[in-house]
Formats: sequence, C-alpha cells, structure tokens
Amino acid sequence: MAADYPQIHPSVENIIDSAKLMSTLVNNLLLLARHQGKLTPESLKKVNLNSLLENLAIYYNTQAAKASIKLISHLPEQPIELWTDPDLLRLAVENLLNNACNYTPSGGTVWLRLEPHPDRAVIQVIDTGIGIPEADLPYIFDRFYRVDTERARESGGFGLGLAIVQQIVQAHGGHIHVMSNEGKGSTFQIKLPLMSHS
Ligand code: ATP
Ligand code: MG
Repeated sequence: MAADYPQIHPSVENIIDSAKLMSTLVNNLLLLARHQGKLTPESLKKVNLNSLLENLAIYYNTQAAKASIKLISHLPEQPIELWTDPDLLRLAVENLLNNACNYTPSGGTVWLRLEPHPDRAVIQVIDTGIGIPEADLPYIFDRFYRVDTERARESGGFGLGLAIVQQIVQAHGGHIHVMSNEGKGSTFQIKLPLMSHS
C-alpha cells in the first residue's frame, strides 16, 4: 500500500492523478466520437427537467460550498417535460456547473435557472466568476481550446467540456449561447426544443 511507504507516496499519487486524467480524456473523446449527429429515437426518454436539474443542484450545492461559492437554483413550479437522453443532458449541465464553480473565486455565486416557454426550455448557468475575454469567446466551444490554464481553480482540464456540451445540445436540436464580461462573470444559455417523440 502506498500509505505504508511515505517516501513513494507522492509519486504514486502523481501516477494515480495522471491515470485519472488520461481516463477522463479518453472517455471524453469517446463520447465526442460516439454522439455525433442527431440522437436516435430509442435513446430518448420523457424526462421531467425540473427534477433532473433539482438533483444536480443538490449535488453541486455541496461542491460549491466546499469552494465557498453560493449555488442558487431557480426552477419553476410548473413541470417541464422533455424527450431527451437524460444521461447526456445531465452531463451537459454538469460541465457548465463544473466550469462555473471552477472559474468563480471564493465568495462568488452561481445560479442554475430553468425558464418555461411554450415551445422550448431554457436552462441558464450564470456565475460571478472571472469571465471570458471577448477575443476568446468565438473559440471556447472548440475541442481542446482553453483560455488560460492559470485562471482555473483546478487547472487539470483538457478543454473538451464545452465541446461536449455543444455537441449534446446540438444533438437535441438545441442551441447554446454565451455572454461574458471579463472580471464580472458569464452566462451560458441552453435552448432546447420541446420536441415530440417521433
Ligand atoms: P475540461 O472541461 O475539459 O475539464 P476546460 O474547463 O478548460 O477543461 P471547457 O469547459 O471546454 O474546458 O472550457 C474552455 C475554456 O473556456 C476554459 O479553459 C475556460 O478558460 C473558459 N471557460 C469556460 N467556462 C467558463 C466560465 N464559466 N467562466 C470563465 N471561463 C470559462
Ligand atoms: Mg470545463
């Protein structure tokens, strides 16, 4: 056991960390390769978006609190149901929440919002973090694009998170939009059509 040999412990930990990073990278690349184009009707389930997001908010509340960030969720009373691949949609919102927490300094706030519209659902992840320079905004959804590794709370990412989010959203026939002010914060908005199961 590494714990029994304190002198080798740090290097074993490095190896474990690298293996975890590599595994994340491979899984993310496989995900991007697998889910190109539209989703098949068989992969779609009727999902209550309010409870999917509420569960995420509960989990991220604890994560955010560890970083002294306040997470506030605004979910409507009215249930919003959507035909979706729930695992993929959850992953997309998780990536946005991870970014919001990772690029927001302690003391900041992250909001998770869901807005009902007659023909679409709008999910927003808003943060009071470091923001994104205007010049970088056109590229942040590109694979492997990172603004600056020094900016993150944890600098270990590969720049694939937003590429995955965009691919998932587009596979659902939706759109993702970002607004950001450097030093003030960012808003990521996902619009998903309330499509029927065909
Ligand atoms: P990964 O998600 O693969 O772990 P990553 O977070 O660097 O790595 P993306 O999620 O694709 O990659 O984000 C791309 C870049 O956009 C980030 O490196 C970061 O600089 C910037 N970015 C993304 N979200 C935010 C945010 N909420 N606030 C500030 N910058 C952000
Ligand atoms: Mg990320």
